[in-house]
Amino acid sequence: MGSRVTHAPLAEAVTRGDRRALAKAITLIESTRVDHRARADALLDALLPHTGQSLRIGISGVPGVGKSTFIEVLGLHLIAQGHRIAVLAVDPSSSVSGGSILGDKTRMERLSVHGAAFIRPSPTSGALGGVAEHTREALLLCEAAGFDIVIVETVGVGQSETAVAGMTDLFVLLQLPNAGDDLQAIKRGVMELADLVAINKTDLDAAAATRARAQITSALRIFGFHGRAGQRRVPVLQLSAVKGEGIEAFWQAVQAEANERRASGAFDARRRAQREAWLWDIVQARLLADFKSHPGVRHALPRTLAAVDESRTAPTMAARALLDLFKT
Ligand code: GDP
Repeated sequence: MGSRVTHAPLAEAVTRGDRRALAKAITLIESTRVDHRARADALLDALLPHTGQSLRIGISGVPGVGKSTFIEVLGLHLIAQGHRIAVLAVDPSSSVSGGSILGDKTRMERLSVHGAAFIRPSPTSGALGGVAEHTREALLLCEAAGFDIVIVETVGVGQSETAVAGMTDLFVLLQLPNAGDDLQAIKRGVMELADLVAINKTDLDAAAATRARAQITSALRIFGFHGRAGQRRVPVLQLSAVKGEGIEAFWQAVQAEANERRASGAFDARRRAQREAWLWDIVQARLLADFKSHPGVRHALPRTLAAVDESRTAPTMAARALLDLFKT
C-alpha cells in the first residue's frame, strides 16, 4: 500500500465491495506500525456506520472434522441464494508455531475464487498478543464491504473458541460421529459456548451419528445447557459436508435461532455485551503494555518476581508495590 493513500478512498472502495480494497484494509489493521494504527483507527471510524448488518457465525471443531469442507459447501449454497460470504480464520497455531492449521492454500478452492466470497486465512497475532486481536476489526470491515454473512472459523484449541464465541452471534461446534463414544471429546467448556452442534461425516456411519446425537444431547442436558425450563435449547444436527447433506437444514436452524433471538432482544443484548467486552479487552491490554514498559516497573520487576517466586513477598504485596511504582 502506497504511503500517500489516505483512508478516504480506501474506505470508499471497501464500501463498494471491492475485495482487493478489503484485503488492503485488513492488512492495514493488522499492521504493527504506529502510523498505520492511526490510519486503521480512522478507517474503522469512517466505516463503522456501514457495519453491523451481517449475521456473524462462529464455527469450530478439531482439525479434520470437516470445517473447510463444510464452510465451502455452506458458502456456495448461500451464495446461490444471493448472499455474500466472508470467511475469517482465527488460528492459534500460527502464533505459537509459525505454521498454520487453517492457512493452507488448497482449502475452499471453489469458494475462494467466487466473486461473492472473501476468504482471509490466519491473521497473525498483533503487538498486544491474543490470537483474535484484529479479527473483530476484520469482521467489521467485511460487513462494511457488504458481506451479509461472516463466518469466523477456528480450531478446537486453546482460548480461540472463547474469543470467536465472543465476537459472533451464533457459535457452531462441529463434531465427529464417534464423539459420543469418547466422553473426553465432549468438553464442558466448549459445549457451554455452543449455540448449535452439528455432527459431520454422518455418511461414514449413520448409526454412530445417531448415537452421537443422542449422547451429545444428553451431555448438554447433564451440563445443564439444554432443555430445562427457562434454559436455552441447543439444536444438535447431522451433516455430511462431502455429500452436501443437511446443509439447508443447518441454515434453517441457524436462521430460526437468529430470528428467535432478534425477537426476544437476546441478539442485540449479546452484541452490546460483546462491544463492551471488546472495549475492556483493549483497555486492559493497553494498560498492561504501558505497565510493563513503565521504567520504574521494568526496573523493579525482576527483583519483585524473584521475591514472589521464592515466597519472600506475597503476590498481593508485590502487585501493590508495582502498581504504586506505575502510578508515580
Ligand atoms: P478441517 O481440518 O476441519 O477443515 O477438515 P477438512 O474440511 O479439511 O476435512 C478433513 C477431511 O475430512 C477431508 O479429507 C475431507 O474430505 C473429509 N470430510 C469432510 N467432510 C466430510 C464428510 O461429511 N464425510 C466424509 N466422509 N468425509 C468428510
